[in-house]
Amino acid sequence: MAIQIKNKSFETLIEYSMIEKRTRLIGIEINVDYEDKQPVFVGVLNGAFMFMADLMKEVKIPCEATFVKFASYHGGLKSSGQVTEHLALDIDLAGRHVIVVEDIVDTGQTLKHFLQQLTQLNPASVAIASLLVKPKALEVDLPAIDYVGFEIGNEFVVGYGLDYEGLGRNLCDIYRLNGEAEES
Ligand code: 5GP
Ligand code: MG
Ligand code: MG
Repeated sequence: MAIQIKNKSFETLIEYSMIEKRTRLIGIEINVDYEDKQPVFVGVLNGAFMFMADLMKEVKIPCEATFVKFASYHGGLKSSGQVTEHLALDIDLAGRHVIVVEDIVDTGQTLKHFLQQLTQLNPASVAIASLLVKPKALEVDLPAIDYVGFEIGNEFVVGYGLDYEGLGRNLCDIYRLNGEAEES
């Protein structure tokens, strides 16, 4: 399906039914990997709010949740490479098993920045769950992403938490920018 947000046209890339299925499987993996570990899920706002909610509904072991907020896009279609922090951690992560929940890993700048901060807090372990990963866009060295929803190409996507200029986060499906309409 094609949709319009502001002057851009987008088409369906991943339907919600696929996201649901994948999220359920990741939840099952986490239930096994973290049994007796009482992990802390740390969602990276804004984009990860929907994935975090759906993923946590599949987690059946005792766990905690909190959020941090970074921004690197500042509104447009490309990451600025400049990561700014807007909300700080409110749980002591020393000795804890942390699962960072991301909407998407693009250049990897945001995650690299956050992982460096996390290391200084001496957690027992750190894993990463990202709904989407753009392997071809990666610009920095990152540890392997432990739980990946879907790998996608180097394209701009919206929906399911992800925005274009603030809009589209509420969409259930994920859409990609339609190249042909870009010139308009
Ligand atoms: P990175 O630091 O890895 O370049 O990107 C981090 C953040 O940029 C993501 O968490 C997400 O909020 C935003 N971002 C990256 N790629 C996309 C995309 O294709 N669409 C949207 N809407 N945001 C993106
Ligand atoms: Mg994000
Ligand atoms: Mg954004």
